[in-house]
Amino acid sequence: MSSQREYDVIIIGSGPAGCTAAIYTSRAGLRTLMMGGVTPGGQLMKTTLVENYPGFSDGIRGPDLMMEMIRQAEKFGAEIIYKNATRVDFSSRPLKVFTGNEEYSALSVIIATGAGPKMLGLESEQRLMGRGVSTCATCDAPLYRGARNLVVVGGGDSAAEYALFCARIAERVTLIHRRDRLRASKIMQDRIFSEPKIRILWNSVVEDIIGEDKVEGVLVRNLVNDELSRVDCEAVFIAIGHKPETEIFRGWLEMDEEGYIITRDLVKTSVEGVFAAGEVMDKRYRQAITSAGFGCIAALEAIRYVEMVKGLR
Ligand code: NAP
Repeated sequence: MSSQREYDVIIIGSGPAGCTAAIYTSRAGLRTLMMGGVTPGGQLMKTTLVENYPGFSDGIRGPDLMMEMIRQAEKFGAEIIYKNATRVDFSSRPLKVFTGNEEYSALSVIIATGAGPKMLGLESEQRLMGRGVSTCATCDAPLYRGARNLVVVGGGDSAAEYALFCARIAERVTLIHRRDRLRASKIMQDRIFSEPKIRILWNSVVEDIIGEDKVEGVLVRNLVNDELSRVDCEAVFIAIGHKPETEIFRGWLEMDEEGYIITRDLVKTSVEGVFAAGEVMDKRYRQAITSAGFGCIAALEAIRYVEMVKGLR
């Protein structure tokens, strides 16, 4: 194996948790590799204005914030590769992380792979993905400018944000939610209720997405009276939450029933020297700033661990 592929710490993921960890470990002089993934920057790359990240009184665009974080990590010497980790081997030391056939090793690993969008689980959803079905309205809704109707599924802040974004683009927006009240924060709910273009179908679920080559509508079931109805639309944006990206760690690390990595002392996983930070272990707070905070803690623990290991040599 090439010596160039040996690091003090490998950070998997490049959202706020991964970037913050990389800034801290590289600034502390640790030989740091951040595996940024093929689409670096994490979930903030898919959002518009971030208004609640401290330090930006006028807000900052999500992608701009992430590019700044990546630049900051690079400035301190972190190496960044834009590949996905495909496999790990934590059975011996140094710890190993693979991207396809390429092997990288490190004394410590920080997992900051975050969480990906949950799907409805419909065959039509898979078939029409990218042909009107999307999990990112801020990325894809502009493709449907002037549409007669766009559908958003979900009742949280993401669904609210998507619906408001779609209302700027389409003549009408239909928000489909399975309960009789939104989970979204009060400020987002107020904005939703005062936007006349948004119609909410309460107590309703999407049973099917209609269309052969492109989305033409959705089949909706009302859970109160069990009635089925068709809602015509040009696109469907699914915003029903996220699930952690932990598949490659299955069998190596303790996880809960939903696949979130279980940690103690905030960031320590069940394997010594392996730390987890951000939405891959935190399903409660899930904010960019809390993820960044966990990334900082994981880095401080990794720095301490690497120094201890080197001291023992
Ligand atoms: P979330 O808060 O978990 O909301 C998911 C929504 O989808 C819920 O309303 C849920 O319904 C619904 N849902 C879940 N599974 C479903 C299924 N199988 N079929 C139909 N509906 C389903 O997720 P999120 O909206 O992505 O937000 C995640 C976190 O990010 C939150 O902490 C949020 O505050 C934050 N966030 C903040 C902003 C902002 O401040 N601008 C923007 C986006 C996200 P129930 O309500 O019935 O459970």
